[in-house]
Amino acid sequence: MAHSVKITSIKRITHDVLSFVTEKPAGLVYHPGQAVDVSINKPGWEKELRPFTFTSLPEDDFLEFTIKTYPFHHGVTNQLRSLVKGDALLIGDVFGAISYKGEGIFIAGGSGITPFIAILKQLEKKNKIGNNKLIFANKTKGDIILEDKFKILLGSNFINVLSDEVRLGYENGYVTADLIKQHIGKNTQNYFYLCGPDLMMQAVEKQLSSLKIADNFIVKEAFG
Ligand SMILES: Cc1cc2nc3c(=O)[nH]c(=O)nc-3n(C[C@H](O)[C@H](O)[C@H](O)COP(=O)(O)OP(=O)(O)OC[C@H]3O[C@@H](n4cnc5c(N)ncnc54)[C@H](O)[C@@H]3O)c2cc1C
Repeated sequence: MAHSVKITSIKRITHDVLSFVTEKPAGLVYHPGQAVDVSINKPGWEKELRPFTFTSLPEDDFLEFTIKTYPFHHGVTNQLRSLVKGDALLIGDVFGAISYKGEGIFIAGGSGITPFIAILKQLEKKNKIGNNKLIFANKTKGDIILEDKFKILLGSNFINVLSDEVRLGYENGYVTADLIKQHIGKNTQNYFYLCGPDLMMQAVEKQLSSLKIADNFIVKEAFG
């Protein structure tokens, strides 16, 4: 059964990414990395379910979603742009393939960062960031979600890759096998966490396979 939750705040994170904080339904259980089917509690939109990942932590008494909006889809994320504090979302079933298994390399494309926001937030809280690394692929610097936060949290273990912009201090192009290899280091027991658009995922999986990474060290979810 879907729960209606009121939006308590909306913040702009980048030019097209919004953070929504809502009430939390009693008894809702999830783990960092999981998503939930969400719709907008407005006439005509209640049945338009779209998956979004919790970027709040399970123990928080609120829910947070970090959502990249696509005005040209004329779909749910475009509609979300017109919502205001006090409007409501419908929260359905919780699901998701990503959970933290151990230290490794997080590889995200665009909004594919959201499961890793929750996981890294939890590791930060437990003081267990360790040598985890984040390779984050975006089109331009302006598309990077929470760049300042990840810089502080991960320092040189935060690697940005920009496909459409050349900038000092940022890799240019796509995530390559070479780039991944540079960051594997001596620890062969790395986990690889992948999340992003289908095409990016396929390319990165090919590269991991060329690096002879065993499937049981790959944790992934495609964002379509
Ligand atoms: C498990 C999971 C978790 C996710 N978590 C998050 C998250 O936390 N944050 C986040 O930002 N995203 C997340 N996503 C992605 C998110 O669900 C989609 O971006 C969202 O569903 C898009 O909804 P929409 O209605 O705006 O557009 P869509 O449902 O993609 O499209 C609406 C309509 O637009 C048209 N359309 C589709 N693509 C195009 C295109 N390229 N050009 C023109 N028209 C098009 C189609 O006709 C479609 O019917 C997640 C996805 C998954 C699978």
